Amino acid sequence: MLGAIEAGGTKFICAVGTSEGELIERVQIDTNTPEETMPKVIRFFKKHSITAIGIGSFGPIDIQKTSPTYGQITSTPKKGWRNYPFVQTMQEAFQVPIEFNTDVNGAALGELMHGAAQGLDSCLYVTVGTGIGGGAIVRGQLVQGLSHPEMGHVPVQRHPEDTYKGKCPYHGDCVEGMAAGPAIEERWGISGKELSNRPEVWELEAYYLAQALVQYILILSPEKIILGGGVMKQPTLLPLVRNEVQRRLNGYVEIADITENIDQYIVSPKLQDDAGIVGALMLAKQALEKEL
Ligand code: ZN
Repeated sequence: MLGAIEAGGTKFICAVGTSEGELIERVQIDTNTPEETMPKVIRFFKKHSITAIGIGSFGPIDIQKTSPTYGQITSTPKKGWRNYPFVQTMQEAFQVPIEFNTDVNGAALGELMHGAAQGLDSCLYVTVGTGIGGGAIVRGQLVQGLSHPEMGHVPVQRHPEDTYKGKCPYHGDCVEGMAAGPAIEERWGISGKELSNRPEVWELEAYYLAQALVQYILILSPEKIILGGGVMKQPTLLPLVRNEVQRRLNGYVEIADITENIDQYIVSPKLQDDAGIVGALMLAKQALEKEL
């Protein structure tokens, strides 16, 4: 039995399951301070006999195994979690191999092994919710170098009629600053859920998201793009994003996946809301394989 944690900014999902991606039992735990949340996490896994743990976490996180701060959540504004030694805490409680990565890298792995990108060698998973983040797999490997990618913070061109200043505390009008859930809410003065009948909201949203996706396509050339997260639950948004990606690429990447079959190229997660937790389970599988 493998253990999996999808650590989000508002909730933790903990699960046990098999190396085939089957979830056996799960719990949801609120993300309060580490002192409140972590003992509940540990208690859940102590009930089971687990051989490895996979963690897909909100970030930024330190995934560089040679770093003295490896396994920590780093510069998050979330109370109590800044520099929190996540992996170390789990390692003290469980003497099993642990694999630690971002929530979106985890979700990309989940979709590649058991979801929309099954059978492919590369994919990109992008979440659009309270933040924007992307995880990528190239030639079967998660993309990481100095650290993990920070795709939510790529610059975008402002729409000429958009006067909203942007929500990102670092960059203002990067794609997360212009298009994540909190930016939508602040720009229009009400939450995205109440804006579902306002086409101009979603056209502007697609305008920004497509710019980011075009950059990812041009740089990474993924075989499949999966768009998840709460904002993507707006049903009119995905088709608008596809159209805007095609319009911006303007026929330059002359591949049928983009020019003709974009409906199968930019898709929703096949695992739906389970992409992250199944991905964390696959991280646990990798932890076990690395140990052998
Ligand atoms: Zn930013």
